[in-house]
Amino acid sequence: MNNSKSKEHKTTCEVTSLIQGYEVVIGFETHAQLLTKSKIFSRASTQFGAAPNTQACAVDLALPGALPVMNIKAVECAIRLGLALGSYISAKSIFARKNYFYPDLPKGYQISQFEIPVVQGGEVQFFLGEQPKKVRLVRAHLEEDAGKSLHEDFVGLSGIDLNRAGTPLLEIVTEPDMRSSQEAVAYAKELHKIVTWIQVCDGNMQEGSFRCDANVSVRKPGQPLGTRREIKNLNSFKFMQQAIDYEVLWQIEQLEDNKEIQQATVLFDPETGETRSMRTKEDAADYRYFPDPDLPPLEISADWIEQIRASMPELPRSMAERFIKEYALPIYDASTLTQSPQMAAFFEETVRHCGQPKLTSNWVMGELSRKLNEESVQIEACPVSALQLGALISRVANADISNSSAKTLLDALWSDPSADIDALIQSKGLKQVNDIGALEKLIDSIIAANPDNVTQFKAGKEKAFNSLIGQAMKASKGQANPQQLTELLKKKLQ
Ligand code: ADP
Ligand code: MG
Repeated sequence: MNNSKSKEHKTTCEVTSLIQGYEVVIGFETHAQLLTKSKIFSRASTQFGAAPNTQACAVDLALPGALPVMNIKAVECAIRLGLALGSYISAKSIFARKNYFYPDLPKGYQISQFEIPVVQGGEVQFFLGEQPKKVRLVRAHLEEDAGKSLHEDFVGLSGIDLNRAGTPLLEIVTEPDMRSSQEAVAYAKELHKIVTWIQVCDGNMQEGSFRCDANVSVRKPGQPLGTRREIKNLNSFKFMQQAIDYEVLWQIEQLEDNKEIQQATVLFDPETGETRSMRTKEDAADYRYFPDPDLPPLEISADWIEQIRASMPELPRSMAERFIKEYALPIYDASTLTQSPQMAAFFEETVRHCGQPKLTSNWVMGELSRKLNEESVQIEACPVSALQLGALISRVANADISNSSAKTLLDALWSDPSADIDALIQSKGLKQVNDIGALEKLIDSIIAANPDNVTQFKAGKEKAFNSLIGQAMKASKGQANPQQLTELLKKKLQ
């Protein structure tokens, strides 16, 4: 069935009333490309971007007589993910052939795991706003990727690039636990964070290293699960949300029109914002799965699992919980700062230098992140060190410099990272005037020079007060402590 008919624009209000009375049900299948140097069953390189067909060897092409050999690194990645998500790691798992024909699959079958996958169960925990959520995993299994069909540079024919054939993938499958597109995106972001954090996947969505398929259905609450349609290959979080929202509305409209939904695989078109049916869905039986006779069962010893467990880093969720406890940070701060291990480490190191967790959090999430974005610099390459930022924050905490002077100071440190911070404060005239006597003198002169503002303020015009503060700040070249100035002026004008 094709639903590419153009959609009339719907207001948010109409959309919400449409969804009312229906429950959205979503389950995810995610293909994470594993960070191994060579392929899952051969020694060919997995490097992205090489000239077509230069990285597919006899095994990847299944030339007669070529035999697959398991890449131990791929198994290690699967175990790491299983441990991170509290899954059961199967002591024995089986590789199976999934048989189908497609031009990018010269073998005529994909090696995957079917009946007994390596990783079973587990869950992904995350926050949707302030709301804690859990999505249960069914399984994560190892498999090889297929090649790619190329259409762009050809007229009337297609090219085949087999470089990707045999690239190791972990397919991570959830229970249908998600109830909105927002929750689905939050899940996908959390999973993305975990796989990159534990370094099993580079998470590059543009290059296809982290591809999500969203299975979507709707139902009236209390009813059995509705028929699902699977949206393939969502390669950005933005498209993910758009695609699911579109699909949900489309399905509700079908049901409201008393039409049946057929199980299908659909593609999202970012140009039109619509989902379009590719094919009706195959069943597992269509693939004629059978154990691969070329590969023995994969056996994983308890010792190996324990060895890998000991090498695991602190995970983002427990780190965020620790930040909340240890540094008294709000949930929002803790989860933002644990977006990447590098950011978390930078935050902690800065706190060690200045002892100001909340101020540091504000600076790292605020000014510093803004600057990093603006200059397209990753935090690990930040020119301002944690030591320097810590020193800057200490000066703010001691009221040596105002917040706005601190921003000027950050800019100065950015372009001269080895500069002495106090010398900079001096030379740029950023030192804050906190001396009450000096501030009183300043206020007296401003009051004397602006009798009109004073009269207006006394007549109830708040703006006149701000104007006086503004003039005092200007007269002090931005160095007066604005809080003290405000308090003193209030007192004077009482
Ligand atoms: P297949 O392997 O054929 O795609 P599975 O039964 O393994 O099918 O399910 C694939 C995904 O679809 C899982 O993430 C599962 O949670 C999800 N899913 C299954 N039924 C539904 C449904 N009715 N609505 C939404 N998602 C579903
Ligand atoms: Mg599927």
